[in-house]
Amino acid sequence: MSTKTHSVVIVGYGGMGSYHAKLIKDNSRLKVTGTYDVLEARRAASQEDGYSAYDSYEAVLNDSEVDVVLIATPNDVHKELAISAMKHGKHVICEKPVTMNVKDFEAMTAVAEETGLVLMVHQNRRWDEDFRIIKEMYDKRTIGDLFRIESRVHGANGIPGDWRHLEAFGGGMLLDWGVHLLDQFVFMIDSKITSVTSRLSFILGDEVDDGFDAVLEFENGVTAMIEVGTTNFITLPRWYVKGTEGTAVIEDWSLTGRCVMQNREVGKVEPKPIQAGVGLTKTMAPPSEEATLTEALPKAFEHASSFYDNFADVVEKGAEPIVKNSEVRRVLNLIEHIFKSARTGEVVKDFDMYVPKN
Ligand code: NAD
Repeated sequence: MSTKTHSVVIVGYGGMGSYHAKLIKDNSRLKVTGTYDVLEARRAASQEDGYSAYDSYEAVLNDSEVDVVLIATPNDVHKELAISAMKHGKHVICEKPVTMNVKDFEAMTAVAEETGLVLMVHQNRRWDEDFRIIKEMYDKRTIGDLFRIESRVHGANGIPGDWRHLEAFGGGMLLDWGVHLLDQFVFMIDSKITSVTSRLSFILGDEVDDGFDAVLEFENGVTAMIEVGTTNFITLPRWYVKGTEGTAVIEDWSLTGRCVMQNREVGKVEPKPIQAGVGLTKTMAPPSEEATLTEALPKAFEHASSFYDNFADVVEKGAEPIVKNSEVRRVLNLIEHIFKSARTGEVVKDFDMYVPKN
C-alpha cells in the first residue's frame, strides 16, 4: 500500500479546473497544493477556495515540491504547457481534447517518452453511467450483437462560454463534446473504423461548428451514428441501440430507458394492421405484447475517481493507463478525418490508427 501523496498544481482554474479541485479532495493519493491561472480574478477565486495561487507558470515549473501539473486551460495552450511541465520533471494530467491534431499530440508524447514521465488525458466520460450501460450491453450481448449504436447529446443553449466560439482556441463542438462521444466508441469497440461521413453545423453563425453528425462504420459490422447539437429545442434520446435480438433506449441523463426484445418462447405473432396516416400498415404496427419482453436496462456503475487512482498507479508502478495515449491519438486522427469529410463531402476511408486491444 502506497503512502505517497502526489502534489498537484491545477493550471487554469476555470470551470473544469475548479471541478478537478473538488473531485481530488476525495482522493487519498493526489492532493491539490496550488493553482495557477493567467487571470488575477481566477487566482483570487482559487485562494477563496483555500488553494494558494502561484504568480506565474515559471514558479510552478521551478517548484520542486510539485509532482503533477493538471492542465485545464483552453485547448490551444495544452501542448506548450504540457511539454514545459514534463521538461521540468512534472507528470501531466491534461484535459480533453489533449490538443487539436495528431502531429501536436505526437510532439507531446515524444517528450513523455524522452523524460519517462506520465502524460494522461482526462477522458472522464468513460465513466458516465449511461455509456457504461451501453458498454455492458455491447460486451454481454444483452439484446444480441449491437449493430447500430446512436449516441446523441442535444442542447438548446448554443456554444457555451467565450473561447469555445473561436477557432484559434480550439473551439467548436466537435473538439468539445465530440471528443467525449468519439472516445467512448474507441474505448468500447475493439475493431477498425473503415469509413466516416460527417457534416458540421453552423446554424449560429460562429466561425466554429455548433454541432455535427458523423457516421462511423466498423469492420466488425457496427455502425455508429454520433450527433452533437446545441440548437435542439426538442431532444432525441441520449442512446438508441439495435441488437440482433432487440432494441434499447436511454432517454436522458436520469437513465430512463428500457430494452425490448423478441420473446423466444412465443412463436411468431401475426401483427394486427393499424391505421397510419391515410393508409393501413402491418409492417409498421407495434409488436404485440405477447411477442415481446420489456426489461429494465442493466446496471453498470463504476466510480469515476478510479481515473485519479489509476493515474497514481501508473506513476508509482507503471500500471497500464486506463486512458491510453494510443486511444487518444486514434480519436484525434478520427477528428481530423471528420473535419475532412465535412469539408469535402466525401466518405473518408483507410485512415484509422486502430491498435487491437489485446
Ligand atoms: P474556462 O474558460 O472555464 O477555464 C479556463 C481557465 O484557464 C480560465 O480561468 C483562464 O483564465 C485560464 N487560462 C487560459 N490560458 C491560460 C494559461 N496559459 N495558463 C493558465 N491559465 C490559463 O474553461 P473550462 O470550461 O474550464 O475548460 C478548460 C479545459 O477543460 C478545456 O480543455 C475543456 O475542453 C476541458 N473541459 C473538460 C471537461 C470534461 O468533462 N472533461 C468539461 C469542461 C471542460
